[in-house]
Amino acid sequence: MEITVNNAKLILKIGDITEEDTEAVVNAANSTLMGGGGVDGAIHRKGGPAILEECKKIRENEYPDGLPTGEAVITTGGNLKTKYVIHTVGPICGGQFTDRHRELLYRAYYNSLKKAKEKGIKTVAFPSISTGAYGCPVDEAAKTSLKAVIDFLKNENGLKEIRFVLFTPSIYDQYAKALKELVNEA
Ligand code: ADP
Repeated sequence: MEITVNNAKLILKIGDITEEDTEAVVNAANSTLMGGGGVDGAIHRKGGPAILEECKKIRENEYPDGLPTGEAVITTGGNLKTKYVIHTVGPICGGQFTDRHRELLYRAYYNSLKKAKEKGIKTVAFPSISTGAYGCPVDEAAKTSLKAVIDFLKNENGLKEIRFVLFTPSIYDQYAKALKELVNEA
């Protein structure tokens, strides 16, 4: 599924984020920035040690206590097809979805796109942040994630294409449903 927002494309697809050729891909990191499971593990495995080296420097220089939830930082893409990885931390929901979870997830997407824009990046791929190990309900996460990206594209010019790269048909279907609802509300 694909829509246009303020001259930028917003695309939903099924796939593996580590294979994307966008200028930046977003990592569903944890606050340590030292790697983990899911998307995070796959990005570091395929991207190689250069990504972790930069993450270590970011921890030392900017975030000795870890990257706060909702914030984003940028590193090289290492051996991935993408040039950059934007690392952000989504909320830990554990099956619930409160207003605070919604706000933090929104900020994770919005701040990732801010980082992209600062670097002059025009194409970005996102996974479904916080819907794996962090346990946010996919329907709620989809609405919030899509809203954050659409709001950013409406408020800021410069980005050309945002892809949501969803790992399973079931997650894709829930994002497609949420996107249709958002388009109909607008
Ligand atoms: P979090 O800790 O933020 O919940 P996870 O990486 O555990 O992050 O999961 C986030 C989402 O990414 C889940 O929906 C999971 O199915 C999906 N996922 C896992 N591996 C990949 C991948 N290689 N590409 C795209 N999505 C992935």
